[in-house]
Amino acid sequence: MSDLKEAIDRRREEIIRMRRELHRIPEPAYTEEKTAGYVAEQLARLAIPVRTGIARFGVVGTHRFAQPGKTVMLRSELDALPVAEQTGLPFASLHPGAMHACGHDGHMAMVLGAAMVLRDLDPPLCGAIKFVFQPAEEGPGGAAPMIAQGVLSDPQVDTVLGLHLWPGLPEGTVGIRNGPLMAAMDRFDIHIKGKGGHGAMPHLCVDALEIGTQVVGALQRIVSRQMNPLQPAVVTIGEFHAGAAFNIIASEAHLSGTTRTFDTDIWHSWAERIDRIVSGICASMGAEYRLDYRPGYPVTINDEQTARRARDWAAAAVGHESVLIPEQTMGGEDFAFYLQRTPGCFIFLGAGRPNVAPLHSPFFDFSEDILLTGVEIYCRAALDLLRENG
Ligand SMILES: [Zn+2]
Ligand SMILES: [Zn+2]
Repeated sequence: MSDLKEAIDRRREEIIRMRRELHRIPEPAYTEEKTAGYVAEQLARLAIPVRTGIARFGVVGTHRFAQPGKTVMLRSELDALPVAEQTGLPFASLHPGAMHACGHDGHMAMVLGAAMVLRDLDPPLCGAIKFVFQPAEEGPGGAAPMIAQGVLSDPQVDTVLGLHLWPGLPEGTVGIRNGPLMAAMDRFDIHIKGKGGHGAMPHLCVDALEIGTQVVGALQRIVSRQMNPLQPAVVTIGEFHAGAAFNIIASEAHLSGTTRTFDTDIWHSWAERIDRIVSGICASMGAEYRLDYRPGYPVTINDEQTARRARDWAAAAVGHESVLIPEQTMGGEDFAFYLQRTPGCFIFLGAGRPNVAPLHSPFFDFSEDILLTGVEIYCRAALDLLRENG
């Protein structure tokens, strides 16, 4: 076994313990106070200088090596989801209605584990490593405000890396893809205002619920009738609220949804396309409307050179045959914001096994051994990228 694998193995129990302790205290977006306190304390115990309170609960530990050089950033999310856990695990969530159902507990344990192992090994490297923990990845997004507050500067970051547990790939594999990996993701809300009244007298009303159903149907035709079928695109309406009783015509309807695409032109065209349809339907039916279209995350695009090197780090950890090229996904990630400014790579860590629950499921869990693979990839990245001060 290599020195690195041995060093990781010595921290094995601790890495798993951290994951479980974090799993017990899940906090959804922008409430990550305990979680941030936990990771800051772990970094401080390693004598790594820590900044807290960045973009509310963001935490950054910066370890500088003796020689000047490049800076590598390892990023984890802090936030959990508003999901009521049903795993029945002995270390299940202690916070009712909240759960680390996207594996961010594992992500934190891997970044902290890498910090521990690199401190243990104390390799003669150059430059610096930033251990970054950001809030609110699940929305509205903590990466952009973290960048606005200088997370990529002082010292200037040269390479950004992130790992995400990925049930779509088998356990023991690592997925690395050049170029676009995850889609641009936006959110929209539509408020339709009609005129309510007696269910028997539609001629005296403007039925907001019925108009809402027209909007839902027509929005589906953006993808089926307006888009190039060779370009993947998604319009999903996830919420539709209207009506109060069986015999009352609804005066208002509220719809909200999300769009996904890999194409910049399509991305920039969503708001206008949706507005054209909603305004046309509402005008024809005599209703008023308001559309709030909120750009979310850009496309997550991995840097080719970093992705190539990442394949070597992963191959050293799991063997060449277990380094795969994952399919693109219409899921979105605010890691995209870091990649817009700095070359880097977002890596999928296979977490798939028979009957694995998907991410965001109340049953999501994974084999903790894969955390050691993640730690190894992070450590190999640092050992490779910070070898020289060029
Ligand atoms: Zn998620
Ligand atoms: Zn996630």
